[in-house]
Amino acid sequence: MLLIPLGESNKIGASCYYLNVEGTGILLDAGQSPGDDSLAGLPRFDILDEDPDWVIDHVVITHAHHDHVGGLPSVIRKWPHAAIHMTVATRHLLDTLLPASARLQARRAKETGITGPPSLTEEEVEAVTYLFQGHTLEEDFDLTGLLGRSRVSARFFHSGHVLGAAGLLVEFEEGGLRRRLFYTSDTNLRNQTIHPGGEYPDPPIDALVLESTLGADGDIENTTRREEEEALCSAITRTLARGGRVLLPVFALGRAQEVLALIDRFKRRGRIPETVPVYTSGLMRGVSDIYDRTRFSSPRLDPEFEVYGVEQKRMPRSQAGASSILQEPAIHVASSGMMMENTLSNRLAQRLLGDEKSGIFFVGFVKEDAPGHRLLEAASNGSEVSLGYLHEPQKVRCEVEKFRLTGHSNRRDLISLVQRLNPEITVLVHGDPEARAWMADNIRFFHPATEVVLSEQGRLLTL
Ligand SMILES: [Zn+2]
Ligand SMILES: [Zn+2]
Repeated sequence: MLLIPLGESNKIGASCYYLNVEGTGILLDAGQSPGDDSLAGLPRFDILDEDPDWVIDHVVITHAHHDHVGGLPSVIRKWPHAAIHMTVATRHLLDTLLPASARLQARRAKETGITGPPSLTEEEVEAVTYLFQGHTLEEDFDLTGLLGRSRVSARFFHSGHVLGAAGLLVEFEEGGLRRRLFYTSDTNLRNQTIHPGGEYPDPPIDALVLESTLGADGDIENTTRREEEEALCSAITRTLARGGRVLLPVFALGRAQEVLALIDRFKRRGRIPETVPVYTSGLMRGVSDIYDRTRFSSPRLDPEFEVYGVEQKRMPRSQAGASSILQEPAIHVASSGMMMENTLSNRLAQRLLGDEKSGIFFVGFVKEDAPGHRLLEAASNGSEVSLGYLHEPQKVRCEVEKFRLTGHSNRRDLISLVQRLNPEITVLVHGDPEARAWMADNIRFFHPATEVVLSEQGRLLTL
C-alpha cells in the first residue's frame, strides 16, 4: 500500500492522506489549515496529478472539524465522481457546517481581501450532502475502487473526540496477504463529559496512522480530568464572586457542548449560582441541537443529557445588546477556541482583557501561532498583546488561565495505544515537530517492534 501525506506536516495544518491499495484510491480526510483561508491552507492535491495511477475513488471524512473537512469543497470540484463517506452523525453536522463555513469564508474574504479556494454555494452543498454516505459505527462498508484489484472494506470506530468523530480501519488483500491499516484521526482514549473514550480494533494492525497533537505537552499526563474540572470550577467561581465576566473560548463543535455540560454539573452541585446567565451564540447552537438529536444514536455517557437542557441565552447580535450584557457577571461560551481573528471570542477578549475582575479561560488545544496563544504568553510574562488586525496592543489585566480539557489523548495514552494495537509500522501525523519527535523517541523506546515514520508532505510511503 502507498500513503502520501498531502497536508502540511510541520504543524497541525490540513489533515489529508492519499492511500492507494491495489489500484483503489482513497483520500483520508480533506482538511483546511486552521486560520488560513488562502489556497496555501489547502492540502497539495496537485501531487496526485503526477501519476495517472493515483486515482481517487473514495473520500473518507473522519470528523467535521475544519482541519479535516475544510478542503472538501475543493475535492468535490476536482474529483466530482468520488464517493464520500462519514459517520451518520458527521453527515448531520456537515449539513449545518458546510454552508456555514462557505458564508464565513465569503465574509472573511471581504474583510481581509484574501481569496480562498472555491467554496460551494448553498444549492451545491444541498446537492452534494444528499449524496454523502453516512455509516454506522463498527459496520463494514465497501471502498473497492473502479480499477481495484482486490476488495477493500472499511469500518468506523468511535474515536471519543467530538460528536461523529471516528477512527477508520481499512482491510484488503495484498500479494495474497490480508492487511489492515488503522487511521486514528483525532482520538481520545478517556471519557469526556458527554462522550465516552474511543474504541479501537483488535490487533494485529499492519500500519497505524497516529495523531500526535499533545506529544509535546508533558503537564497534561500529570493532571487528571477531575482536577482540571475542579480548577476550572474554582476559577469561574472566584471570577463571578469578584463581579467579573467569564469568557470561555471554545470550538463550536465539541468543546462548546462539553463545557456547557460541565457548567450544568457545577450549577446542579451548587458550585456556581443557578442565576448566573450563560450566553451562547452562532454556529455552536446549531451544533448543540444536533448533539441533542443524536443522543440515542451516538455513543454517550448519559443519553438523557441534553445540551439544550442547560439554561442558556442567545448572545445579542447588535453591538448595543452585546455591550449591555457585558456589564453584568455572566459566563460567555464563544467560538473560536483558539481566538482566531474576526471571531466572537476574539472580539469579547479585546473588551475584557483590560478588566481585572474578569477571567478568560481556555479549555481546549491552542496552537502556537493563534491569537489565544499570544494572550496566554502575554498574561504570563506581563507584556502587551494585540489580538487582531486592528487591535491596539493592550496590557492584560484580567485573569487568563488554561485548563486541560481537550478532546485529544495525552501522549502516554497514545503510546499505550501503539502497544495495544501492535502495528508493524506507525506513521506519526497531526502534531508539530516537537510533539512528533517526543512520540517517535518514546515509541522506539517502549515499543521497538514497530517501525516509526514521521509523515512529510508529498513524501511517498510504501507500507
Ligand atoms: Zn478534531
Ligand atoms: Zn484535527
